[in-house]
Amino acid sequence: MSRFPEPGILPSEAREILTRLGVGGDALRGPRAACSPLTGEVLAHVPEMGAGEVERAIARAHAAYLAWRTVPAPRRGELVRLFGAELRAVKADLAALVTLEAGKIASEGAGEVQEMIDICDFATGLSRQLHGLTIATERPDHRMMETWHPMGVVGVISAFNFPVAVWSWNAALAFVCGDAVVWKPSEKTPLTALAVDAVFRRAAARFGDVPEGLSTLVLGGRDAGEALVDDARVPIISATGSTAMGRSVGPRVAERFGRAILELGGNNAAIVCPSADLDLTVRAVAFAAMGTAGQRCTSLRRLIVHDGIYDALVARLKTAYGSVSVGDPRAAATLVGPLIDGAAFGTMQLALDAARAAGGTVTGGERVGEAALPGAFYVRPALVEMPAQTDTVAAETFAPILYVLRYGAFAEAVRLNNEVPQGLASSVFTTDLREAELFLSVTGSDCGIANVNIGPSGAEIGGAFGGEKETGGGREAGSDSWKAYMRRATNTINYGMKLPLAQGVTFEVG
Ligand code: NAD
Repeated sequence: MSRFPEPGILPSEAREILTRLGVGGDALRGPRAACSPLTGEVLAHVPEMGAGEVERAIARAHAAYLAWRTVPAPRRGELVRLFGAELRAVKADLAALVTLEAGKIASEGAGEVQEMIDICDFATGLSRQLHGLTIATERPDHRMMETWHPMGVVGVISAFNFPVAVWSWNAALAFVCGDAVVWKPSEKTPLTALAVDAVFRRAAARFGDVPEGLSTLVLGGRDAGEALVDDARVPIISATGSTAMGRSVGPRVAERFGRAILELGGNNAAIVCPSADLDLTVRAVAFAAMGTAGQRCTSLRRLIVHDGIYDALVARLKTAYGSVSVGDPRAAATLVGPLIDGAAFGTMQLALDAARAAGGTVTGGERVGEAALPGAFYVRPALVEMPAQTDTVAAETFAPILYVLRYGAFAEAVRLNNEVPQGLASSVFTTDLREAELFLSVTGSDCGIANVNIGPSGAEIGGAFGGEKETGGGREAGSDSWKAYMRRATNTINYGMKLPLAQGVTFEVG
């Protein structure tokens, strides 16, 4: 039984949460409407910043960086630790706001804030581990080592579907690395960005002497993002969003020899082998494909199933798809909340039409709750059996569509997995060790994430999160991705009395 939200109540709920989080006054006055995908209602109005304001924010951030870079790294880590503590205190409110503004179900809203807390913990420890190597030198009486230095201002451009976590992955690392951050969030999620900014200010006040401008929020559309991208005082641009956005941002940053960290679209597949545990597979596939209404970069979009188990698996998936609850993301039983807006719905329907035209059989995909909520876009997730991997299948449609394809030989399944432009996440379901290891090997999956017996969606902050090919290759969050936020210097120290001029040539000094 689906339940949909009551219209009329959400704006005041949002106001109350924003007030508790410390957002009010001028931050909630301006020309841009912040809407809720739950009902389509306007929750609040926010300011819109143009190129001039972005320019001033960058100037402030650059000045802040000049001071912040001299603060010892473990002390910088203390600021991030305090931010994590403030986030713990407001987790429920911030998660509820993520649900209201981005439409995520309650557990995923809470999960996103937990990711922010996790990266703060990770980065606090990291602030004492920004290690360089000591390197064996060929010169006598010399020592050679590498030193890591802050870079400057990091411009963060983020997508609507991770409205708070993406900034945190970047900012927590950037702050401990000694950088300042200017953040241009998605124009679809300004309220959560204002809330995060307010929570960060609480941490900064507890810390005491954070330079003004260390963390700056600029609200605006594509032009505000472009102003950030083109400014030479921003040596690093970390942009998360569609491949179309990355195609514009990447060359512009490269033209001025800046560093781009790009995390772009995905078109993630799972291969299901004859030996797979089907109970586990059905649960994992259903969650990875339908969760967050298919609006995750790591959502499962293609299922490549062995002939021998195809009919049994698809029948079980159809039952799961038929029984899933679509509706109010705040209701405990709901797995699938709304699409972000009408444009997303239109794109989904175009993809389904193209799949039908190419011989696909579509189950689900229809709009629900339209009569009660004409401004909101809820859909039943679509399962689409395809005769081949067509252009539509090979494109990322940011909606809950799972294309199902058959395979005979494992090599064919790996080829299908890799034969799309994007290279984000992938999985294999098998109990055959050889298939599992082959999938993870150099001749297996070409994706940044390759999993065995777990769906492709979601990523832990401990592993660097990114992807290959059209996904941009950028790495945010864990592992050694901190190096992308710093520059490396190699230092050579001569503690001898001779100065080698060239191989074998020296002269005596004094
Ligand atoms: P989007 O590309 O429409 O917008 C993302 C951000 O880029 C927004 O802040 C937008 O204002 C800005 N932007 C757009 N064009 C720009 C330009 N030319 N110059 C500068 N800034 C520009 O993406 P979206 O619809 O918000 O998010 C969904 C997309 O993001 C999907 O493709 C999804 O796969 C991807 N995504 C990827 C990851 C990842 O880690 N790989 C994570 C989340 C989302």
